[in-house]
This record gives sequence, structure tokens and C-alpha cells, in this order.
Amino acid sequence: MTVAKRIDGKAKAAEFAASITRETATLLDEHGIRPGLAVVIIGEDPASQVYVRNKKRTAESCGFHSVQHKLAEDVSQTDVLQLIDNLNNDDAIHGILVQLPLPGHLDEQAITQAIEPSKDVDGFHFVNIGKLTAGHTSDAFVPCTPAGCMLMIEDELGNDLSGKSAVVIGRSNIVGKPMAALLLQVNATVTVTHSRTKDLPQVVAAADIIIAAVGRPEMVKADWVKPGAIIIDVGINRVEKTINGETKMGLTGDVDFDDVSTVAGAVTPVPGGVGPMTITMLMANTLRSARLAAGLEG
Ligand code: NAD
Repeated sequence: MTVAKRIDGKAKAAEFAASITRETATLLDEHGIRPGLAVVIIGEDPASQVYVRNKKRTAESCGFHSVQHKLAEDVSQTDVLQLIDNLNNDDAIHGILVQLPLPGHLDEQAITQAIEPSKDVDGFHFVNIGKLTAGHTSDAFVPCTPAGCMLMIEDELGNDLSGKSAVVIGRSNIVGKPMAALLLQVNATVTVTHSRTKDLPQVVAAADIIIAAVGRPEMVKADWVKPGAIIIDVGINRVEKTINGETKMGLTGDVDFDDVSTVAGAVTPVPGGVGPMTITMLMANTLRSARLAAGLEG
């Protein structure tokens, strides 16, 4: 028996994107500024190609100036850093994103840290990470996936999580750690778990809010879930799925959606949950950067 609400990330993202489109038109009308997003993609990773295509399409539909730089798999570190330097100095560009993962010969840290913090719409620069960790989110760029998750949590529970316990599964710099910082900032009691955590199901079972960011298909089961808990499934896993007797590759999350839906209060689906919200948050960060560059409020 299903009891959980299905949180519709796709619909929420579309609504949010519509408001970004309106604000973009106003910024252009009133100040002559069009937000500019530059996406750098290196190599031919098929998943990255899909993500970058979606980002470009969404940027264009929001009315942004959208630029894509496709670099060869064997591009040198020097050439990548030169491109970033050019984009840092380009007034038409307010957000710079380098699609990860990078080919092995490139130094990911040196590249992400070369982006000007004021154009770091992915929120990976140490300056932005530091501001987030110190609670200065008003002038930080927060990584898009956890920021999108927070909007969905706020929809369900409001913006003060005092007295609520949250368990984050996964401790990556992109999702788990910034997610924990955001939850802490709105007064949740936060536990961060990972591959070395003992008795993970029992730890998760104490949570009012569960964020799964692991990369293991359908790991979180109904017996890990406190009745009524809110579950945000960040995982994107490519698996074989049989639909109408036909086996195809499809996407699934880190949460067994049907199983946990018998116990949880609300769950995000995969696809159609966190993914669309992540892309829309990237647009929100880019619009914000353009407004800040124009001396307006973010
Ligand atoms: P990552 O590989 O950097 O980190 C995974 C984390 O999971 C690690 O901290 C690891 O300790 C933990 N982990 C691994 N096995 C575990 C286990 N058995 N029990 C508990 N913890 C375990 O991954 P990431 O970049 O944080 O991404 C996590 C998932 O989220 C992936 O599926 C990724 O594709 C997806 N993702 C989705 C979006 C989106 O927009 N929806 C964005 C980023 C990442």
C-alpha cells in the first residue's frame, strides 16, 4: 500500500524556471543585462554530453546568453586554464561551469579553483564552500544539487527544521557535505553517513529527513525508513529495466521508490525529482550572479 506523496521535482523545476525567465526579461528590460552562462565540456563522456545539452537548453529557454566550449579529450591543462581566464574576464559571462568528471590527465582541483568565485555558479570554489560552511549563504554560491534538495524539503516542512533529524547518506564535496551544511543552517540535527558507517539502516531509521547521495541502485529500503519521513533521492544509476516485457537501460535512484512509498511521508522519484531541480538552480545562481555584477541585490 502506497502512503507517500510523490514529490514532483519536474513540475517544481518548471515553475521555478518560469519565474527565472520572468526575472531575466525584467533584468534585460530595466538594466540591459542578459545573464550569460558558459559551459565547458571536455571529452566525450556520454552522460556529461546529456547533462550539458540539458543545461544549454534550459539556459536558452530562460532567455540567457548561453555559450558552450567543447574541448578535445586530450586538451592540455594550460589551454583549459587559459579558457577559464578568458571567461573570468568576459563581461558577458556571469556563470562558468566546467562539467565533471574531467579526463584523468587534468587537475580537477586546479581547474575548479581557477574560476572566479563571483562566477562560480556550481559553488565548488573554496571561497564559496567556506562561506556556506560559515553560514554566509547570502553571498555564497551554493552547489546546485543540495540547493535544489533544500527547496523541496522546505516545501514539505517549511524553512525551520528545529527538532527534526536529518540523515545524509554520502559525504561528497558536491552533494553530501554541502547538503549537511544547508540542513544545519536551518536548525536540523544532522548526521552524515558514508561507506564506513556502521549499522547504516538503523542510523537512517532515526531520521525525519533522509537524503540519499550514494550511487547504489535502490539501496534504501522500507525497513530503513521512519513512518512519515521525507526522502530526497539524489542518486542517478543506469540500470537494466524491464518494461512491458522489454529490457532497456533506464535510470533509477538510490532509494527503492515503491518499497519506501509504503512507509514514508513523501519521496522524490528518479527520474523527475532532484535532477530537474539541479539544472534550474544553476540558472538561479547564474541570474543571481548577473544581478550582483550589475550592483543589484542577488
Ligand atoms: P560520490 O561517489 O562522490 O560519493 C558517494 C558517497 O557515497 C561517498 O561519500 C561514499 O562514502 C558513500 N557511499 C558509497 N557506498 C556506500 C554505502 N554502501 N553506504 C553508505 N555510503 C556509501 O558521489 P556523488 O557525486 O555525491 O553522487 C552520488 C549520487 O548522486 C550518484 O548516483 C550521482 O550520479 C548522483 N548525483 C545526482 C545529481 C543530480 O542532479 N540528481 C547531482 C550529483 C550527483
